[in-house]
Amino acid sequence: MKLLDLDEAVTKLKELGAKKVLLQLPDGLKPHVFEYFNRLSENFSIIVSSESFYGACDIGSRDVYSGVDAVVQLGHSEIPNIQYPIPVIFLEYRDEHEIEFPESMFEPLREGGYGRIGLLCSIQYINHMQEVGRVLTGMGFSTVTGIPDKRMKYPGQVLGCNFSSAHSIQNSVDCLLIVTTGKFHGIGAQLSTDTDVFILDLNDMSLKNIKDETDKFIRKRYASISRAMDARKFCVVVDTKVGQFREKVAGVIVDRIREMGREAVILTANEANPMDYSNMRCDAVIFTGCPRVPIDDAEKFSMPILTVTEFQMIFSKNPPKRYVMDEIVAVDPLILKNVHN
Ligand code: SF4
Repeated sequence: MKLLDLDEAVTKLKELGAKKVLLQLPDGLKPHVFEYFNRLSENFSIIVSSESFYGACDIGSRDVYSGVDAVVQLGHSEIPNIQYPIPVIFLEYRDEHEIEFPESMFEPLREGGYGRIGLLCSIQYINHMQEVGRVLTGMGFSTVTGIPDKRMKYPGQVLGCNFSSAHSIQNSVDCLLIVTTGKFHGIGAQLSTDTDVFILDLNDMSLKNIKDETDKFIRKRYASISRAMDARKFCVVVDTKVGQFREKVAGVIVDRIREMGREAVILTANEANPMDYSNMRCDAVIFTGCPRVPIDDAEKFSMPILTVTEFQMIFSKNPPKRYVMDEIVAVDPLILKNVHN
């Protein structure tokens, strides 16, 4: 990762009158921590967060951010509809490697009879998505870029918790093409739409239809879901990260569990800790924070851990008829209460 220019952050922090500032860096930028720290320390008192953080949905724990005037987060783009409890300055990262996309890699689209292609991306690859659009147009395809809802800032952007850019164009294209690395965003786009989805995986520069991977994913998730069906005791977890806080959703789930004559406790956590839930002897966990946690970390838990929509698939009065990806459209505001009042 190349070094990000901090001048913009310095200007904004001065405008805010900030004195004490929390600096968050993704792992890829940590080798540069001394440069960032020294530059910002010329004007401000800087404290660096050494915790892992997940993205713009996560400005660390309340204990830390409530003691600073502002946060500078490197590498991610803002989530526009979060009411951040203190000012947060985002310095975004874009992958700027020169990549050539040979026309031959898109021939499977022509062979498959796809003429109108919907374009999506993980945000750091937005430049590459635009380049792919130019190549496709030059080959005679037409392209449409996804339109996000208010949880995302850029056309075509997808998050692991939000595929609104895919929903918005699925009926006006023949297939979706997502420029990304890894499979998760492609699987999410496939699960959230009824159209064919291809991933252009920059790791190995391959174009793949994601359907088989999606089917495998669904089979795995149904195994967890069926294990939760007979659960009697549930832990319903509210994640306290600013962009994952869905307390109201958790309340509705708890009500439904009790209506079914089973038991539920509502928990808050800043990290999902498998040992906690084992100690509480619950039979299943319903996790209302980042939907990737139950999916990516399932093997760390001795009991089934489900997303919000997976809970609805088995326990709501009108369950959806197919697997539904849990997507976060908006979160509840985190109110900082003054306990002395
Ligand atoms: S909730 Fe999860 S998927 Fe969504 S932005 Fe945060 S870490 Fe990413």
